[in-house]
Amino acid sequence: MAAEYQELKTENLVIVGSGPAGYTAAIYAARANLQPLLITGFQEGGIPGGQLMTTTFVENFPGFPNGVQGPELMDLIKAQSLRWGTKLIEEDATSIDLSQRPFSITTNSQKIKSNSLIIATGASANRLGVKNEKLFWSRGISACAICDGATPQFRKEELAVVGGGDSACEEAEYLTKYGSHVHLLVRSSKLRASAAMADRVKANSSITIHWDTELVEVLGDDWLQKLKVKQRKTNQENEIVAKGLFYAIGHTPNTSLLINQLDTDSKGYLITKPGRPETSLEGVYAAGDVADSEWRQGITAAGSGCKAALAAERWLTKNNLASLIERKDLEPSKAETSKKLETSNEENFDPSKIWQKGSYALRKLYHESQKPLFVIYTSTSCGPCHILKPQLNRVLKESNGKALGVEIDIEIDQEIAKQAEVSGTPTVHLFKNKELRKQWKGVKSRTEYKTALDQLIK
Ligand SMILES: Cc1cc2nc3c(=O)[nH]c(=O)nc-3n(C[C@H](O)[C@H](O)[C@H](O)COP(=O)(O)OP(=O)(O)OC[C@H]3O[C@@H](n4cnc5c(N)ncnc54)[C@H](O)[C@@H]3O)c2cc1C
Repeated sequence: MAAEYQELKTENLVIVGSGPAGYTAAIYAARANLQPLLITGFQEGGIPGGQLMTTTFVENFPGFPNGVQGPELMDLIKAQSLRWGTKLIEEDATSIDLSQRPFSITTNSQKIKSNSLIIATGASANRLGVKNEKLFWSRGISACAICDGATPQFRKEELAVVGGGDSACEEAEYLTKYGSHVHLLVRSSKLRASAAMADRVKANSSITIHWDTELVEVLGDDWLQKLKVKQRKTNQENEIVAKGLFYAIGHTPNTSLLINQLDTDSKGYLITKPGRPETSLEGVYAAGDVADSEWRQGITAAGSGCKAALAAERWLTKNNLASLIERKDLEPSKAETSKKLETSNEENFDPSKIWQKGSYALRKLYHESQKPLFVIYTSTSCGPCHILKPQLNRVLKESNGKALGVEIDIEIDQEIAKQAEVSGTPTVHLFKNKELRKQWKGVKSRTEYKTALDQLIK
């Protein structure tokens, strides 16, 4: 069925992507009274908030002397952009047409026209395409150790990481917290990671580095059990026992919507004027990893987002294309910060509260409530959980108390997660009368949860 689009007025500036580059561009553009519209992305090229939503501590972003969790950093940058008047569309851009001005950008629900555009769509994790990869994807194979490493199936088991760069080393180190041993499969005879990171991995007795080793096939039953690998120098094949396999083999820039519309290099990265954000088309700017195959850091992405917004502002003003909004108040109100949810216990448990946390609330609601119940399995380091929780919360609020939600931290309630066969976070189970009606892994669109719930409460 064709989507019903809502036509909107022509925007001054549309920003595509919500990583550090996109949100920083939005802060600058919003403060310049351009009222930017930011399309966050949802699934196609990564999750809202971008790659930093999939990491734990960011130790090198200025302003955080004790480090900051990646998802927390992104929540803060987002809040700063919203505070100054950025408007968000929480969807993927599905097409971009630069052949006419104003430019057209389409999402699942909207067709947008804009005088200028900032592309900040970042880059996505690569897959290897080995035999059985699809079969064991999310059943042992993951592209994000930080998101999935804490799941019960990986605890005290042998795990493996493929790759030889910083991400691979970081993930291998991180996984030693959970696995009994970590195998690092490196295609060449040296690590591409920074010297400090490489030294740490080499010195870690819980990590075995398999040099000149290529993954050939993955094997298992209903869960990954073994890896078939080939020694590249001898062509000899071996098997490595592993219940978890984590890919850290680089990224591909998210530029598929722009093919033949903007100049790209041989790997698909957008080409801009040297040291500047202008792309090959006037009025279109690029920021962050989508145009940077070399530095690829949060701070460089944020810096280039700033440049892109300032350049867009100058260009719009010079061409008389900006319709500036007037603020009622000189200073915007304070940014909203999320409140910490307390774990429910005998004293504070409330059967009518739509969103609670912990095993006590789960037991009570599962056994005693007649209402549909969402159980959301999360972990502290799970960035996508930051995206999912507000979505589900909204669905529950819209149900006017006809359904409830419980959040289970799989690191705290390991037994529950094991019994529920949770293989990664976020996982959502929807129950009615103790019967599992639907389950989802990863973040889905709000309408998907809402539709499933509506079928149970109609
Ligand atoms: C595991 C890991 C750890 C890292 N650790 C650090 C660190 O400690 N310090 C550091 O500085 N950097 C770190 N990085 C690198 C850093 O995350 C990136 O350099 C940075 O996030 C790039 O920002 P970006 O805004 O360009 O793109 P991204 O963060 O990749 O964000 C891209 C955005 O575009 C959106 N998008 C994609 N396609 C579409 C579409 N069609 N429509 C709409 N939106 C779309 C995505 O949803 C996403 O929101 C790490 C990266 C990884 C993977």
